[in-house]
Amino acid sequence: MSTLLEIDELVVTYRSSGTLGQWLSRQSAPRVHAVDGVSLRLSKGDSLGLVGESGCGKSTLGRAVLRLTPPTSGKVLFDGQDVLALRGAALMEFRRRAQMVFQDPFGSLNPRLTVFETLAEVLEVHDICPPGERRERVLSLMRQVGLSPALADRKGRALSGGQCQRVGIARALAIGAELIVADEPVSALDVSIQAQILNLLSQLREHGNLTLLFIAHDLGVVRYLCQRVAVMYLGRIVEAGPVERVFDDPCHPYTRSLIEAIPSMNPDAGIPGQSVQGEPPSPRDRPDGCPFHPRCPKAMPECKSGSPPSVREARGRHVWCLLYPESSDATRSEAIY
Ligand code: SF4
Repeated sequence: MSTLLEIDELVVTYRSSGTLGQWLSRQSAPRVHAVDGVSLRLSKGDSLGLVGESGCGKSTLGRAVLRLTPPTSGKVLFDGQDVLALRGAALMEFRRRAQMVFQDPFGSLNPRLTVFETLAEVLEVHDICPPGERRERVLSLMRQVGLSPALADRKGRALSGGQCQRVGIARALAIGAELIVADEPVSALDVSIQAQILNLLSQLREHGNLTLLFIAHDLGVVRYLCQRVAVMYLGRIVEAGPVERVFDDPCHPYTRSLIEAIPSMNPDAGIPGQSVQGEPPSPRDRPDGCPFHPRCPKAMPECKSGSPPSVREARGRHVWCLLYPESSDATRSEAIY
């Protein structure tokens, strides 16, 4: 399968607001690394789940891929084109082909527009179909995402959260999006509605040839929907691989703690393990060595200094942890996941 999206050593930093002391002494506040050298690759039709605790940089990464947040360095290639260099019509075409679905289903729609107006507007802006055919096209899109055509003239504020999220997905499909970056798209919805939206995304990926970068803190949702998973901690990927391998046999101690904390559907399984101990360090004050060492139950003296661990290959996936033997040069050079 050919590559659709390639993220190479992407870095996003921003200047923190700083302390009062820094402000008084006119010192500039330190730069915070929200995303710190992330490399990922998605083939056409792929679904990659990006997981990690809140504040780990996963949403910033998703936004930087779509140029909604400016990266500091690194590359994003979409279908072979350098996204960060696109201008004018080429940028507009990228915006048509790569879309974001946001967490807040209500906030992402104009509450004063009807469903028809919302979808017809994007068809018009991108000059997708003649005005006379727009109503039929909108109704067809609504059916595709499981919305009754009877809702076409209802305003955004009169829709439920699940209906709004379906309109958001229909808006991406209306303009022929090939890549959807979905940022926690179901976390604000009731559990039964979550399942419907996940099924919809799954069907669209299988039959509509969509590629999905799915950002979530809920690992169960990623396991259900995605083929591959990348786990982020303090702006870096710490483990990446096929979903079954990573979930059934996690290598990195951070991944293991996240997975052990997932409640089981089996009533005999007992109480889930405790999630990761303590709070993640501030990205303003990142520890030396492995950034996870202050919370890691397996930390060794060598984890506490030097550079963060380089990539290693362990049990069929990539892992950034000193517990595993150094990988070969070949593995390192291929380790764009
Ligand atoms: Fe833990 Fe050391 Fe591995 Fe980091 S490198 S996850 S501190 S064992």
